[in-house]
Amino acid sequence: MSVKPGVVSGKDYLALVQSCKEGKYALPAVNVVGTNTANAVLEAAAKNKSDVIIQASNGGAEFFAGKGFPDSFQAKVLGAVSLAKHVHLLAEHYGVCVVLHTDHANRKLVPWVEALIDHGEAHHKDYGKPLYSTHMLDLSEEDLDDNIGECARVLKRMVPLDMSIEIELGVTGGEEDGVGSDEVDNDKLYTQPEDVLKAHNVLSPIGHYSLAASFGNVHGVYKPGNVQLRPEILKNSQALVQERYQTGENPLDLVFHGGSGSEKSKIEEALRYGVFKMNIDTDTQFAQAEAIGHYVDENPRAFKYQIDPDDDTPYKKFYDPRKWLRKAEENMVQRLGEAFEDLQSAGRSIAG
Ligand SMILES: [Zn+2]
Repeated sequence: MSVKPGVVSGKDYLALVQSCKEGKYALPAVNVVGTNTANAVLEAAAKNKSDVIIQASNGGAEFFAGKGFPDSFQAKVLGAVSLAKHVHLLAEHYGVCVVLHTDHANRKLVPWVEALIDHGEAHHKDYGKPLYSTHMLDLSEEDLDDNIGECARVLKRMVPLDMSIEIELGVTGGEEDGVGSDEVDNDKLYTQPEDVLKAHNVLSPIGHYSLAASFGNVHGVYKPGNVQLRPEILKNSQALVQERYQTGENPLDLVFHGGSGSEKSKIEEALRYGVFKMNIDTDTQFAQAEAIGHYVDENPRAFKYQIDPDDDTPYKKFYDPRKWLRKAEENMVQRLGEAFEDLQSAGRSIAG
């Protein structure tokens, strides 16, 4: 099955998720903070003939609107809208399918998500499709019933817009943009299959949801050995839902957070257990910083003088932001090439 290139939602999004799961590959979900990073993701996806997920955290969305924007909440909303419109305009021309998504939103960020759903409604009215394909609600720090109940309420708003929700059960260690915690009981780092079944019972009759299950994953890059990745947690959740609902294998659409620095064998295992999305932020952040660091090291005087005081060399063509921002983009594209390989999505775009 092929899908028109560009931002996908509704049945095209579901076709993409299904393609991933049947083919045992996943799409990188890359956090972006501006047009540079968004374009680098599109470039990398096109170059590797892979579909891709572009996502913004609340902080990333705020940055997109501008750190000087007078109202922080409005910046988070309008920045996310601006990013989405940018990607809607360009994605189809890169020739791949793009899922637009917003990252972790805890209780205090539910109004942010709902404001984006308002914008999604307006966009749906005008263009017959939503602004974002999916939003995440991360209420994993709350009581299970509160978490599931609130996700159900928000999903009901999203279904008429052909949107899907991502939820989190169990806690991803570390923190992402102020959401999350370093002080979590170790057993909360592993999602319980019974909790997954409970969420599935409530959400699957309402609409499509995906699940960020915790199997020892941690945001950011840490010294190995602190937490043990246990992908069999995913397998156990799949098995329980499969048995209870008499479905085919891997009925759950799973998401892998905190994948930076994971062993390749654990990633491969996660793909076998129905993971179709793996978040990438830390590694692409470093790729950008690394490239700019090298560039500054190679051209130190261009970052001190417009014209060299010793020999009058003009440095304009070195300090032009397009030069060093491009270095960051190129290295991000390079790093994403590795991600497409690790997730086995390279060459498998369903855009046609
Ligand atoms: Zn995350």
